[in-house]
Amino acid sequence: MNIALIAHDKKKQDIINFTVAYKHVLKNHQLFATGTTGKKIADGAGLTVHRFQSGPLGGDQQIGAKIANNEMDAIIFFRDPLTAQPHEPDVSALMRLSDVHLIPLATNPAAAEIMIQALSRGDFEWRQIIKQNQQEGKRT
Ligand code: PGA
Repeated sequence: MNIALIAHDKKKQDIINFTVAYKHVLKNHQLFATGTTGKKIADGAGLTVHRFQSGPLGGDQQIGAKIANNEMDAIIFFRDPLTAQPHEPDVSALMRLSDVHLIPLATNPAAAEIMIQALSRGDFEWRQIIKQNQQEGKRT
């Protein structure tokens, strides 16, 4: 599965802790992240992460584009609900696209833990079926 990981600045330590704790699951998937979050996860958890631009410079939009292209299977986005973000429109757009395309989105560690448990149980296999059907649709 392609999993996007994003954390606002005050939540960066939370996502490092989270990715360290669930490294055994996450290492079996393709990980993507906004720039700073990705670097911290790579350094802190030792996971391989494809890094986009930093969030305020367009990273959220880049992940949004992957969602729109059906190339992202799950989003873990530790938002900071108590601090105004300069790129709030980009944050809203990413969450909106997740809802448009029915992509699972966890915005805090409690929800992300449930998501990871589901992922490791194979509950997200329906995403592969959708992608295969789309590929076959394009071929016919
Ligand atoms: P960052 O971006 O990982 O580059 O800090 C995250 C965000 O604020 O959207």
